[in-house]
Order: sequence, then C-alpha cells, then structure tokens
Amino acid sequence: MKFATKAVHAGVEPDPVTGAIMTPIYQTSTFVQEGPGIHKGFEYSRAQNPTRFALEASLAALENGTHAYTFGSGLAAIDALMKLLKPGDEVVCTNDLYGGSYRLFTKIYENFGLKFHFVDMTTAENIKPFLNAKTKMVWIETPTNPLMRIVDIKAVSDIAKAHHKELLVGVDNTFASPYLQQPLDLGADVVMHSITKYLGGHSDVIMGALMMKDAKLAEQLKFIQFACGAVPGPQDCFLVLRGVKTLHLRMDAHGRNAAALAKAIEKHPKLAEVFYPGLESHPSYQIAKQQMRNFGGMISFRLAEEGIEAAARFMKRLQLFAIAESLGGVESLCNHPASMTHASIPKPEREKIGITDSLIRLSVGIEDTDDLIQDILQALD
Ligand SMILES: *Cc1c(COP(=O)(O)O)cnc(C)c1O
Repeated sequence: MKFATKAVHAGVEPDPVTGAIMTPIYQTSTFVQEGPGIHKGFEYSRAQNPTRFALEASLAALENGTHAYTFGSGLAAIDALMKLLKPGDEVVCTNDLYGGSYRLFTKIYENFGLKFHFVDMTTAENIKPFLNAKTKMVWIETPTNPLMRIVDIKAVSDIAKAHHKELLVGVDNTFASPYLQQPLDLGADVVMHSITKYLGGHSDVIMGALMMKDAKLAEQLKFIQFACGAVPGPQDCFLVLRGVKTLHLRMDAHGRNAAALAKAIEKHPKLAEVFYPGLESHPSYQIAKQQMRNFGGMISFRLAEEGIEAAARFMKRLQLFAIAESLGGVESLCNHPASMTHASIPKPEREKIGITDSLIRLSVGIEDTDDLIQDILQALD
C-alpha cells in the first residue's frame, strides 16, 4: 500500500461484533474473563485496548515500521525511550532541540546518571568526537524546533552504526510527520512523534508514539509502556485515528502554504532572517529536498527590530494567526519561542543557539494561502 491508502486503511478493520466501519471507542478499563486467565486477548486497558491497538497498527504502517506504541504525550514517549538506558550511559543529541526534550534530559535524566551531549548535527561528522564506549543513543530532531535546521538522518545514522552497530539512533519526527519523512528507511532504529501535532492535526489531543521495526526493541518498549503505564485513553486514540486519515491531504496543504508564505516574506525589509528548509537560500536545502517529500508547515523568522517588545507588537497585530504554543493543527498559530515554548532553556544557552527575543515561529495552517500571506504582511507593516 502507498501512503494515502495506508493513512485511510492501515490497522483498521470493521468491528468484529457489529461491523462498524470505524473503530469503536472501547471505553473500558477491564475485560470479562470466561474463567481465570481465559479471555479474548484483552485483560486490562493499560496492557491491551482495541482502540489503542488499531491506532498503533496504523502508526506502525505509516512509518514503515512493524510496531508502534502510544503514550499520554510526546514527552511520555521520549521518557519511555530513555528508560532503555542505565546510569552512566551517554546520549548524543541535536543541540537545537524541542524545549521540553531539553528539560526532560537536563532536569530529570541527568539526575538519574545519564549524560547528554548537545551537538550541532547540521554537519553529521560533528557527532564523531562525542561517540565513545558509553554512548548508547543518538537523538536526532529534524527539522529542528524552532530554527528549522536540517540533520541528514542517513549520514548521522551511518556514522553512529559505524561506531557501534548496536548504538540506537532515534529521530523526533514530529515536525515532518511520517508523510514527509520516514527515518526508519534512512537507518534510524526508532521514530518518535508528538502526535499532539500533525498526526492528530486538529489541536484537540495530547499524545505521543514510538515506532520501530526491530522485534527485540519493540519487545523492550512494549514492556516499558506496560510497566510504567503512560498509555493514552481510548477516546483520544479514536480522535487520532480520525486525524490520521487526512494526514497526507493536510501535509500537502501545510507544505504548499508555508512554501508560498516563506517566499513572500523572504526578502521583506522588516525581517532579518527567514528560516524555511524549502527556500533555496536555506543552508541545508539539498538535504531537506532529499529526505523530505515537501518542506513542511513550519517557518520561523527574525524581525529586523530587536527586543521582545517588537516581537509582541507584531504578534498582537495578527488577525488570523492565533498566539499559541503547539503546532501542526489545521489552524495557523504564531509562537514566541523565547518566552513561550523555549522559555525553559536558560537565556544564555538560548541565545547561543540562535533563539533570540526577535525570533518568531509560525505553524502555517491549511487556510487559503492569500489570506495567510496577507495577515503576515499587514502585521509586519
Ligand atoms: C510538542 C513536541 C514534543 C513534545 O510532545 P508533547 O505531546 O507536547 O508532550 C516533542 N518534540 C517536538 C518536536 C514537539 O514539537
């Protein structure tokens, strides 16, 4: 099956009891057993739930994996992944990382004896000096949040596997969605999604997932999901099953709108820099073109006028783009990373990687292209 067919059909069978074409919401914590230990494969919803299973099968297919496990949030999915590691282990990760991932690594997992190296991976070779006998995972985010830097997934995976073939390579694929980029095909072992964003697609669910194709890794992560218990509820799984069916249509629209908007503002005199991997001026345009189907719906830019006041003035003038955290929904959103999504990164660290007070991030929705361009232009003027 190709992508659109999988998005509509994978993992979803008519309900065996009634023939309902859409997976029912099995809103139940437990399942009746005929006798002790005699049951239909469902005992307790932390371990097994039919609605969740349908979603997990669908997600595994979309990433060209064999298994997927879902969690109560994207961060809960990363948290589950980190539980594969032991004190003393080291992780090499992208330096321009989602703020919450950075917080989880530095404020929680460093207390448990893990060590994280934050590396600029836009040049894949940069990871080499950080690989040693203790390195157990390489954690990639691409495109990065919020600076839209691109990491060559295949190049980084190749270097990691050459160092040690058991070295796990994980990719936070949230910004691209499985429609635009499929890291398992590029050498990664595990893909993570904040389903909250494009997979859900309607800004109505918090959820995360891990996808993989190695049976042993799947067994380990399934056990962590069960033993630690951060599973999503069946109602949320139903909403995501619905969202997934239009993922390809939405991503085409997000990509089309964002590309047009980026082009329209690229040379605007009120802007110092525009970050979008689909602009030929983007330093990693060629890599993005190679590993992504389109360039996605996220744009960021730096206002020429510095300071948080200018950023706030611009944002308040927007009519269509709503000021909000998050991304990936059908509606357009505008975020100020330094004070919102990335406020948990200390200011000196933030500025060092380029998240200044004049940086604005847009999640470009699927509204009419002209309306979106018009809104940004009027707010800039
Ligand atoms: C939102 C996000 C996360 C965290 O996901 P939650 O569902 O909010 O826990 C992780 N990575 C990226 C790139 C994100 O945008």
